[in-house]
Amino acid sequence: MRAFTYEKPGTLAEAAAAGALEGAKYIAGGTNLIDLMKLEIETPTHLVDVNGLALDRIEETEAGGLRIGALVRNTDLAADPRIRRDYALLTRALVAGASGQLRNKATTAGNLLQRTRCAYFYDTNMPCNKRRPGSGCAALDGVNRQLGVIGTSEACIATHPSDMAIALRALDAAVETVRGDGETRTIPITDFYRPPGDTPEIETDLAPGEFITAVTLPPPLGGAQLYHKARDRASYAFALISVGLVLREDGTGRVAVGGVAPMPWRIEAAEAELGQGAAAVCETLFAGARPTKQNAFKLPLAERALAALLAEARS
Ligand code: SF4
Repeated sequence: MRAFTYEKPGTLAEAAAAGALEGAKYIAGGTNLIDLMKLEIETPTHLVDVNGLALDRIEETEAGGLRIGALVRNTDLAADPRIRRDYALLTRALVAGASGQLRNKATTAGNLLQRTRCAYFYDTNMPCNKRRPGSGCAALDGVNRQLGVIGTSEACIATHPSDMAIALRALDAAVETVRGDGETRTIPITDFYRPPGDTPEIETDLAPGEFITAVTLPPPLGGAQLYHKARDRASYAFALISVGLVLREDGTGRVAVGGVAPMPWRIEAAEAELGQGAAAVCETLFAGARPTKQNAFKLPLAERALAALLAEARS
């Protein structure tokens, strides 16, 4: 691990100003960043520990939704009675992620910002455009069973690993931020993740040093809210595919898919096909998919998972 300096600011303004400095990185739960620092994939020269900021509350918004502080731990978010009652998809997705110990440490903002689990990204002997721009992509002709089938590029076929983000995408969450100069903004989660294109190292719309303060949820959607995660072992594994479904009594709903793309994958037009069944939804959802030989199984697997969730929601 490279040497770094450390500070623990007491106010949001101090944190945002410190995070804007060259080489600075925010740290909260550290469940991904510490591993990346040990491997020297992330090499911050200054760590800004934000754990002392009062961003660990879940509050009701005037619009009838919820504002989730950036530092709310995944365990606390999943267990909150308002989340369990009105945003059950979020609770189900959260408890499908990682392990109990990791969920106790992991924060809402950190979960959104975790890096891909592509094995070549973590193997510093191998080319990886995301880790070292311009070096190539070892996954294209390597072991890519776990990787993306849609929304990928010639430069990178990695997936985003978050379960939580799949639920947030289906629920139309938004991300609130502040910059070092004090400017704030709200980014709809639809616009939060960037497609890899030629710059897979740029994963989100955040400017350097821009700090996530909260995630907001709009008023509850109602309906049945279900999440299915298919993985190689029963727990503590990333998704081969995951499907989040909201299905309301009038037949309308939302579908978001994980484990298939560099961001939570949702195509709103596909949701108009919910009444026609999983195959019709997936035809639109996965139009233009470019699976590899090793991961083409993800497309029928996602369709079968959605069919099972639809049957469960209607039962
Ligand atoms: Fe790197 Fe992306 Fe290729 Fe994986 S898929 S090796 S993360 S460039």
